[in-house]
Amino acid sequence: MERNDDLPLQQDLGPAFKLAPHQHPLVVSLLQRHASMLDELSRGLGSPLHIVLPQVFTENVQRFQRVFAEYGLTGSILYAKKANKADTFPNACAKLGIGVDVASIGEFTKALAAGVRGERIGVSGPEKTEGLLNLALQHRSLIAIDSVSELQRLVALATSSGTTARVLLRFRPPSQASSRFGLTATEYRAALECCTSHKSGVRLEGFSFHLSGYSTEKRAELAGQLIELCLQAQALGFKSCTQIDLGGGLPVQYVDPEQWCRFLKQDAPAQYHAGKTFSGFYPYGTIRHGADALRDLLDYPIEGGTSLAQKARRHGIDLLIEPGRALLDQAGLTLFEVLGVKDRHASEGYAIVTVQGSSLSLSEQWFNSEYLPDPQLLGHTESDAQVFLACVGGSTCLDSDMLTWRKIGFPAPIQPGDRLVYLNTAGYQMDSNESPFHEASLSSKVVVELHDEASALHWRLDGL
Ligand SMILES: *Cc1c(COP(=O)(O)O)cnc(C)c1O
Repeated sequence: MERNDDLPLQQDLGPAFKLAPHQHPLVVSLLQRHASMLDELSRGLGSPLHIVLPQVFTENVQRFQRVFAEYGLTGSILYAKKANKADTFPNACAKLGIGVDVASIGEFTKALAAGVRGERIGVSGPEKTEGLLNLALQHRSLIAIDSVSELQRLVALATSSGTTARVLLRFRPPSQASSRFGLTATEYRAALECCTSHKSGVRLEGFSFHLSGYSTEKRAELAGQLIELCLQAQALGFKSCTQIDLGGGLPVQYVDPEQWCRFLKQDAPAQYHAGKTFSGFYPYGTIRHGADALRDLLDYPIEGGTSLAQKARRHGIDLLIEPGRALLDQAGLTLFEVLGVKDRHASEGYAIVTVQGSSLSLSEQWFNSEYLPDPQLLGHTESDAQVFLACVGGSTCLDSDMLTWRKIGFPAPIQPGDRLVYLNTAGYQMDSNESPFHEASLSSKVVVELHDEASALHWRLDGL
């Protein structure tokens, strides 16, 4: 039998698998009671349009603060600014009295401008420039040292300006032996020597690390070892070596864990446009997340029956965390305007929707992955019906610029002028990689607040 390549076999996929994103009550209220306002904002301010919700961010911060208080710990939170560029979040940090973790002069300046005190700013990132080191030095910020040469440059700066640098030494986790970040055991010894011979220029305040996985065990064990290292350093005369920075990477739960498990079991290339496959996905349905993940870490038995929290309390060690994504959980969403729809249901079984914007807004594409929670059709967000199967592409000239390769079952036929809503985008899925490719202007951000159920929506452009 002859096969006609121009007429692909129509595959009956049945309904698309639903990965329904969690919705904070404030988000529900926005989508259901204020959909026409969102539509108007999107028409007025262009596509994509990012909505940011500082009230939700504040709730997330307070959840972490309550955990530290419950455990009787002096815990500090540094919001990892790289996860979102909106000014409203550092503003909230200043109000809440928490710090900000930055890795560039631009981020440092934004944190200061938001009202965050220099002492509450943490500076991370590899081999920091002289400008950034000097800024941190003058503002008495906490500098996470990533290499011996960086420490030597910092010491020289501190000595010449008669100041003292507040320093954490960043460790390369044993479980990440191929990471380019952090000090090895040999480099640590050299760094400690440097601190010893320049005690007036350096104040060693503790140790830091950042694990890219989500293992509670690895994080807790490393933290326990670094507490020991603090005690050794104290014995060597570094009396102020009392802090362990556990880094970021506290996971976020985007969808129901059971649904997530079922999704992974049935996932197959046929469910994606062009049979696309990926190297892996963020654990969107992780079971323990946010403040509960911090609880697990503090409860983790690191030696005998002693938990990390007990060990920290016993030795008067302060714990720092640097969450980005976890503080932004549910604190934003993104609207895209539908420009056109290629309805290929008859030939290929699904449609290709083109929106104004590009996949660079959803930075998972950076990791050869996909932001999987289902996009919603504004005005139809309550419906479970699936009448229209479609993937979503961006308005660029790249074939691979797809916001959603996966075929999504939408509750109504999609038409030009509709708005697609990607939920929970504040953590990395907004602006990490946005670019003015094709001379596109960067998208606006609108800060939205809802003071109570009955009240009107208040909005302003971010930064005003
Ligand atoms: C990116 C980063 C963070 C934040 O990570 P999240 O996964 O967003 O919590 C914290 N610390 C350092 C050093 C980082 O590079």
